[in-house]
Amino acid sequence: MALYQTEGVVIGSRNWGEADKMVTIFTQEKGLVEAAAFGCRRPRSPLAASMQLFSYLDLQLAEGRRLETVKQVQLKGRYKKLSEDLTVMSYGALVAEVMREFMPAGVPEPKLFHTLLEVMEAFEKRNPRVTALAAVLQIMEFTGLQLHYEHCLHCGKAIEGDGAFSLQEGGALCGNCREEGMRPFPEALRRTIISLRDFEWQGSGSLKLQGNLLMQAEKIVLNHLQYLLGHNLKTMDFISQLQ
Ligand SMILES: [Zn+2]
Repeated sequence: MALYQTEGVVIGSRNWGEADKMVTIFTQEKGLVEAAAFGCRRPRSPLAASMQLFSYLDLQLAEGRRLETVKQVQLKGRYKKLSEDLTVMSYGALVAEVMREFMPAGVPEPKLFHTLLEVMEAFEKRNPRVTALAAVLQIMEFTGLQLHYEHCLHCGKAIEGDGAFSLQEGGALCGNCREEGMRPFPEALRRTIISLRDFEWQGSGSLKLQGNLLMQAEKIVLNHLQYLLGHNLKTMDFISQLQ
């Protein structure tokens, strides 16, 4: 078994066997990997404290055909709100679920790994709901399944002003191509979505949004995910109970 070192963030885990966990880790080296953390539910295991959701780790992994094994681990960072604040945890869990559902296993995405670290930082100080929405839009850009907002999906022209939105077509249409029965897509909403998708976490920009635009943007994103998955995100059921 070949060993390798990588940084990684735990984005999912489930109990397995008597004292083990199966963890999903988004790594810098290999993107999403599934790994077995043997014995990590024993209180004295050196892995015990590290295999929580959103632990930021230095890892040594042993390569397997389908499954890696966690050999050594060092905690590089833990995010207070993501592990203590129920609302932040829930929106964080949504981001993690989207990564697990849509990122292919074993494909390195160092840029997305960097974004994930920025998003976890952002959860410590920014509005969790808006942070999650921007994060999901950014993650989807790496999947090839994202919706398109700049150019009309019918005529290809850059969209200006109000247009239409079609989930089936994959995003925005210009005002000229809008057909009967299509959902109107106001300029302000389109620009809101683009600004979230392109948001630079390190910049000084704020993520303050008008409430109704936020809700409409969120609705579009969640409908899209549901459309792709064929079911609701599990974390959404939980979040709707919180709201
Ligand atoms: Zn058009």
